[in-house]
Amino acid sequence: MQLVTTIQEVRDIVKQWKKEDLTVGFVPTMGYLHEGHASLMKEARKRDDKVVVSVFVNPMQFGPSEDLDSYPRDINADSKLCEEMGVDLIFHPEPSEMYHDDFCSFTDINGLSNHLCGLSRPIHFRGVCTVLNKLFNIVMPDRAYFGQKDAQQAAIVKQFVKDLNLPLEIVRCPIIREADGLAKSSRNTYLSAEERKAALILSKAIFLGQELVEKGETSAKKVTDQMTDLIKTEPLADIEYVTAVNGLTMEEVDEIKDPTLVAIAVRIGKTRLIDNFVVEK
Ligand code: AMP
Repeated sequence: MQLVTTIQEVRDIVKQWKKEDLTVGFVPTMGYLHEGHASLMKEARKRDDKVVVSVFVNPMQFGPSEDLDSYPRDINADSKLCEEMGVDLIFHPEPSEMYHDDFCSFTDINGLSNHLCGLSRPIHFRGVCTVLNKLFNIVMPDRAYFGQKDAQQAAIVKQFVKDLNLPLEIVRCPIIREADGLAKSSRNTYLSAEERKAALILSKAIFLGQELVEKGETSAKKVTDQMTDLIKTEPLADIEYVTAVNGLTMEEVDEIKDPTLVAIAVRIGKTRLIDNFVVEK
């Protein structure tokens, strides 16, 4: 496995692979890798000849009052996990390698980004789409792998890849959870022991919602109301949204049917956590 920090090095390595007619799978991350990221690498390893992982905490997708500076970083542990997962190349650039001083071109998306997380994080998805567009142009992957954990992000990426005719396939992978249910996230490290316990309310609400839908409930309001009531029983939880949206457009729906995304964002103390489930009948 190689770890490189410049765009030119990535281009040179991938060019050689393409000459040999090898396919390239790409897993973009912000590092501090866990089993959720590893599951994407595993899927890429299965489908593609070569696997590239980027580790880059992208400043452009953080708002002014968000956690850019405190976001956890550990490139040594990340390299170890990637090595174990059979990754071929890690791209770990400095922000200055990705954004030169006169950088002024952005990739933005209408509609899909004006819902859910986009409401409280207005510049977030512009930053995500811009960096991913750049990374896709640098790595030139055949497939890129995204977690359903960030369902809105995956839907947005799928749309801009389609709209901009980018020659790659987007593969979505299921949410990986801790043994007790909490969705794995690099941000879980922010939680104190007490908050970690309280954070379980997110997955409990997701499992409750899933159970209601499985039993035949189709009213979005009834499902989200019961999930909301459950989350409110946890004193440390502060709800940002509990909602059911169309899985493709991200617009709110009244009736739960294929494809509906039931998604939640909840603050536990200062830590903002998200979780979701998808209804595909
Ligand atoms: P991040 O490093 O948080 O930007 O995440 C990088 C990729 O890993 C994204 O596609 C996420 O959706 C995915 N990911 C993060 N956590 C999980 C998880 N618990 N299960 C599955 N995928 C995940």
